[in-house]
Amino acid sequence: MRTGYLYHEIFGWHDTGTYTGDLPSDPGAGLQPFINYEHADTKRRIHELIVVSGLIDHLDRISPREASEEELMRVHTKEHIERIKKESSSRLGGDGGDLSTPFARGGYQIAALAAGGAIEMMDAVISGKVTNGYALIRPPGHHAVRETGMGYCIFSNLAVAVMAAKERYGKDFRVAVIDWDVHHGNGTESIFLDDPTVLTISLHQDRLYPHETGDLTTLGRDGSNINVPLPPGTGKGGYRYAMTEVVLPALERFKPDLIAVASGFDSSVFDPLGRMLLTAEGYREITEMLMESAARLCNSRLMATHEGGYNATYSPFCGLFVLQQLSGVKRLDDPFNHADQYPGHELKAHEKDVVDRAAQLIADIKV
Ligand code: ZN
Repeated sequence: MRTGYLYHEIFGWHDTGTYTGDLPSDPGAGLQPFINYEHADTKRRIHELIVVSGLIDHLDRISPREASEEELMRVHTKEHIERIKKESSSRLGGDGGDLSTPFARGGYQIAALAAGGAIEMMDAVISGKVTNGYALIRPPGHHAVRETGMGYCIFSNLAVAVMAAKERYGKDFRVAVIDWDVHHGNGTESIFLDDPTVLTISLHQDRLYPHETGDLTTLGRDGSNINVPLPPGTGKGGYRYAMTEVVLPALERFKPDLIAVASGFDSSVFDPLGRMLLTAEGYREITEMLMESAARLCNSRLMATHEGGYNATYSPFCGLFVLQQLSGVKRLDDPFNHADQYPGHELKAHEKDVVDRAAQLIADIKV
């Protein structure tokens, strides 16, 4: 088994500017300038831990390339691509589209490299160059819709990769996208809502972001979308239950050719934006479950693209644990594993209720 890994230092040069966490600084409102939560360090430090732990020696490096305009246009409108390109060439850069997704000069090239990185990783897994893999790319992608970027995302990296795979391997190539970022994968959902060959399942904190999407009632064509809007405070027990009752049986029914993960570490217990309790061990467990599913259903083809995760000291361990599980090589324990003992990890009744309702949607997946 070989595990692919993709990162490029220039992903750390995507400049999201001075912010007050997730809001633009505003002295009049008392918002003191600080960093943007979507900061290079939360990803760069994942990469550094993978190098320093020695895990890097057990991974197959995959190189990113810029996605072409033609590849981006299979997902995004020409107007969106042209606008990002134009603002990227201006002295001060621009914004993904919601005035909360700032990028500096040259942002287009870095965003195109992130999308192209997703394409290359997905292709490496499908072609059998590697068994599974993780693309640690930035900016993230799962909130971007066809016409615009939003929520730190400029292009839908994973959707661009799925469309590239379909171009190469046929339009019937079936991909299941499992989104474990704490925020709803609204972009991926909207792009594939009418495409029954792409199953999208999002496990997220109910109405965290976007506030108006991610409900149980958004159903894709032929049952190809399932949302699991988990209550704040969901821990390992709730996620485990969502996996065994919704994700794994849905995969079993859908029979994908590839399982892709939109991987955010903002569902972790220490994240400043989310209010969930997942730990590095929790992420490892759900990775293991998906690996077992991939082994049964699609020749172990499993890949992830990086999305959110905003705790710069803890995200690295979540990333390390996912990659240790994917590769089967263990280098380090989680020094923060006291969080595995926090009360609240057990499945709670109001979590079970949501998962049980989501599980009823599995029968709608057309086979
Ligand atoms: Zn997120």
